[in-house]
Amino acid sequence: MDNCTDGQTMVSEDQLIERVMRRLPSEGDGLRVGIGDDAAVLRPRGGTEWVVTTDAFLENVHFLRKIHPAKAVGYKALARATSDIAAMGARARYFFLTLGLPDSCTGAWLDDFLDGMARAARRFGLILAGGDTTKYPAVVASLTVVGEIDPGRAILRTGARPGDLLCVSGRLGDAELGLRLIQRKLHKQRRWAKLLKKHFYPEPRLALGQWLAAHRCATSMIDTSDGLSTDLGHICKASEVGAIVWAPKIPVVKIPPELERLGLDPLELALNGGEDYELLFTVPRKFSRRMPRKVAGIPLTVIGEITREKRVILLGPDGRCKPLQPKGWDPFR
Ligand code: ADP
Ligand code: MG
Repeated sequence: MDNCTDGQTMVSEDQLIERVMRRLPSEGDGLRVGIGDDAAVLRPRGGTEWVVTTDAFLENVHFLRKIHPAKAVGYKALARATSDIAAMGARARYFFLTLGLPDSCTGAWLDDFLDGMARAARRFGLILAGGDTTKYPAVVASLTVVGEIDPGRAILRTGARPGDLLCVSGRLGDAELGLRLIQRKLHKQRRWAKLLKKHFYPEPRLALGQWLAAHRCATSMIDTSDGLSTDLGHICKASEVGAIVWAPKIPVVKIPPELERLGLDPLELALNGGEDYELLFTVPRKFSRRMPRKVAGIPLTVIGEITREKRVILLGPDGRCKPLQPKGWDPFR
């Protein structure tokens, strides 16, 4: 499958790197040597720690070229990686882009991809510091993002304690709803365009992550990339605790009445749908009274509690408790 019809067959690696550099922000504060040498030279601010993450975004695994606009592919590749920086509470600073492209995607498709990525980079305050460009039969992008944080302030998965309250930002299930519309071939209908926004253009919660780190109020944190049921399992495992989630408290996706015929359950989408890139974090109970309802315009909701017993339990809408199995995204399942 190859719908990049805009191929420029004779394009050199240097020309491609030139185009990447022209379209993405590639100069700025702290970047002593950027694109053009063998490696980048970054100047850390005095006494801060680097927070570094890497993330692959692969055609036919994470996106389909027939369905995902090139702009969305570029934007989302960077947003996904940057969400891990948000989940540590760090500021986003630099990124590295390793790009594999078929010949046929080196023209207009690449320009759109870079435009989407440039939008993300400016939004998140990121500068491109380097990367690698190579030919490949499918579009593959690997993003390395470098963040910065004051020493010891990074919020880890390991700090949740029994009695802590479990909180989530924004709303859960919106990205999964977008995916389900694509699977049902409804994404081409203009009326549902809004419902696809979170799937195509997710928003890493950088400001909230930094706020939580600055106020030292979160004991643990993760971004919901795989889905609440799976990501909460990651916090519980790392912190050696359990949790109870109160289903009626979860801010779930709103499904328009016209789509009720699809039989989608908002709670199921919220529990097991991936790619919302919200922040899931724990706070000591005594802090919860001082917790604002919103940070940087994003609502915060208490949805459960950390327990000593190492099981993850869902208190359902029917008032019954049952184990919450991790049923989120897992590429090997
Ligand atoms: P080398 O052969 O020494 O690895 P390259 O020719 O691969 O060097 O890269 C030359 C320069 O261009 C390096 O600074 C590298 O970081 C940068 N570069 C290559 N591809 C990309 C890309 N996709 N995005 C950003 N910078 C890139
Ligand atoms: Mg190289």
